[in-house]
Amino acid sequence: MPFKTIIEPFRIKEVEPISVTTEENRKVYLREAHYNPFMLKSEHVLIDFLTDSGTSAMSSKQWAAMMEADEAYAGSRSWLKMEAVIKDLTGYEHILPTHQGRAAERILYGYLGGKGKVFISNTHFDTTRANIEFSGAEAIDIPVEESNHPMLDLPFKGNMDVNELERLIKRHGPENIGGVILTVTNNSGGGQPVSMANAKDIKTICNKYKVNYFLDCCRIAENAYFINHREAGYENKTYKQIAQEMFSLADGCVMSAKKDGLVNMGGFLAVKDKALSDACTNLLIITEGFATYGGLSGRSMEAMAVGLQEVFEPDYLKYRIRSTAYLGEKLYKMGIPLIYPIGGHAVYIDAKAFYPQIPVNEYPGQALVCELYLKGGIRSVEIGSVMFGKYDDSGKLIPAPNELVRLAIPRRVYTQSHIEYVIEVFELILEGKEKVKGLRITEEPEFLRHFTAKFERL
Ligand SMILES: *Cc1c(COP(=O)(O)O)cnc(C)c1O
Repeated sequence: MPFKTIIEPFRIKEVEPISVTTEENRKVYLREAHYNPFMLKSEHVLIDFLTDSGTSAMSSKQWAAMMEADEAYAGSRSWLKMEAVIKDLTGYEHILPTHQGRAAERILYGYLGGKGKVFISNTHFDTTRANIEFSGAEAIDIPVEESNHPMLDLPFKGNMDVNELERLIKRHGPENIGGVILTVTNNSGGGQPVSMANAKDIKTICNKYKVNYFLDCCRIAENAYFINHREAGYENKTYKQIAQEMFSLADGCVMSAKKDGLVNMGGFLAVKDKALSDACTNLLIITEGFATYGGLSGRSMEAMAVGLQEVFEPDYLKYRIRSTAYLGEKLYKMGIPLIYPIGGHAVYIDAKAFYPQIPVNEYPGQALVCELYLKGGIRSVEIGSVMFGKYDDSGKLIPAPNELVRLAIPRRVYTQSHIEYVIEVFELILEGKEKVKGLRITEEPEFLRHFTAKFERL
């Protein structure tokens, strides 16, 4: 029977109360947080859409596995279990555990990077870019042209521009390319999927010039869902088979298991090449931990081993992708400008179009983030000029290509009534939107400024 309602394919066995606040309370909390939701206490948040990272609810199977964990320093049974699951999934020979994605990034891109090196991606995620730039290398984003048109209804707006890829490799010289990084799904590019055809084209070019090709595979299960439903030839493959095929194209991957690993903490680096693995293992042992735990407890590795399998279950993925789309499609029908079609893990609102009265140097995305918190206690994040803006030599802002606000949906955490509430908050925000003003930055750090920047209302 094709029912219209897609139910959460789980029932709830343990509950965590959320504290209900008023707009009066939130006015004070937001001022105290300097208008930066990263500085709010989570107990002052009603619906937390700040990130889908590390915020998943774990299953009873994951908790049970954690009780079985082996906390041995070396050669732990839990490590062997996790290693086997990752080898089976990725097909890569060398697996390095890390405490989260950016640790894997720092090790791999720190080793391959440095001054004079260039990395090329569909879009570098913020920590990826920061780790590359911190090494002295340069990070260049080349999303396909379609990604510049938020409302254009196309199936794979997360793709990389392969013609530009070849031009860049020739211009910089293959010997100066630290790596080509395909982010699936394209998180900063709206959570849009990448097609297998694109992943294959990139492989052909990387092979031709002998440059490293890595997947940033945080959301590869969600991406596999889109390929299965949108790309010809994949409708009869399982989600896991699709992911395996994509892994087989690249030389290695970096994963934050806090996304499609369905865990609260964990990550890994996996590569085909032994020499590269050996070099990275040295760095791993110096900074993260011994090669069979890399900063993770045995129980975290158990949870990851189970999570990496559960995430490919068809009922789970259908609920995951369709429930994110449910929120996005409702907002779309209300006339809220957003990235369309809806991506896998989040709804991205086009704040520049939503608040045309706010210039980009007064951060329309940050203004919407503040409104969502004030009116509804919803925490979201700006993905625009606060996150990716730079300054020219005269101190003038070079804005990001888009001013987005991301509502990232934690996995298996919120129910449909939470989502209905969020939709109502948007109805309220639509009413007074002409009067909303922007913000000014009063204090900011050099790297990843969105985490700790302080703002003032204009
Ligand atoms: C989250 C994320 C990372 C970084 O992982 P952490 O676990 O947060 O360190 C890297 N790339 C992408 C695409 C991500 O979404």
